[in-house]
Amino acid sequence: MFSSHNKSGSKSDLIFAADLGGTHLRAAVVGRDGKIHYRLKQPTPQAEKPDGIVHALVDAAHEGARHTAARDGQISAVSIAVPGTVNFEDGVVVKAPNVPCLDGFRLAAALESELKWPATLENDANAAAAGEMWQGAGRGYSNIVCVTLGTGVGGGIILDGKLWRGVDGSAAEIGHLGVDPFGGVPCACGSRGCLEVYASATAIVRMTREARPRYPDSILHTSEDLTSETVYHAGLEGDELALEVFRRMGVYLGIGLASLINLLNPEIIVIGGGLSNGWELFEHHMHQQVIERAFPLPARSVKITRAECGDDAGFLGAARLAFAGQQAPTN
Ligand SMILES: [Zn+2]
Repeated sequence: MFSSHNKSGSKSDLIFAADLGGTHLRAAVVGRDGKIHYRLKQPTPQAEKPDGIVHALVDAAHEGARHTAARDGQISAVSIAVPGTVNFEDGVVVKAPNVPCLDGFRLAAALESELKWPATLENDANAAAAGEMWQGAGRGYSNIVCVTLGTGVGGGIILDGKLWRGVDGSAAEIGHLGVDPFGGVPCACGSRGCLEVYASATAIVRMTREARPRYPDSILHTSEDLTSETVYHAGLEGDELALEVFRRMGVYLGIGLASLINLLNPEIIVIGGGLSNGWELFEHHMHQQVIERAFPLPARSVKITRAECGDDAGFLGAARLAFAGQQAPTN
């Protein structure tokens, strides 16, 4: 069954790996060398019951197998990155706020019974960290903090080459580091002043709306459908409002990173997710806070860099974790 398969590690040469997002399902057939033999992207079914998600994953796996069986070999394991807390040992989704029908669901067992392959689950940000360590900016490092700046802010921590999951699988929630305890903006987690309410794509839009009255000349003043991308493009054109919003975002991100640097003394911090595309607008402010707040020695030695795997990080990491069995990846 599930756990014994994983403890022995998969000997297969191909893994079907998927990154199940709240909006999109990205999946791939991945080889032991990291080569992507087949990939697909489709909307995540807005299912009321887990069956809808299971069927989408099973159909995608069958399609992957059809496209790769003749030329590349057999798939013999499945590995899924899930946007939420998972119990890695039992293959259970504990809580997935963006795919709530999966809360408490034994997703690994359901996939094993349909596909007859051993199944592994991992939190999506943990998987992204494993993916960057295997095929991206974290190659060659074994003490890595990975921050994913997307709709929310995710985190993955690899220490001595192993994912740090915590006792309940809920570790590395970097998005919920408190960076503004007084008068902080309420967060979906129930706390306030979390990094996520200042350094996510959602936060960029909210902060732009809030600050707009103070910048009557901003080109974003007339923009109705604000996105973090439109704010970024305005920033590139020198729009003061957009620059101020990315400055604030960078300051809060830097405050969070300084705490992580003091706590973990990592070799490298890898920053990914869609909002990391705004790098040139927030990088300086982020670094400034790190220099001002972190201990000089770990602040000097840490490398803070952009992720390299893009949207592939989640499924690449999921594949790597399946190849490695229950061990987190080692280089
Ligand atoms: Zn929070």
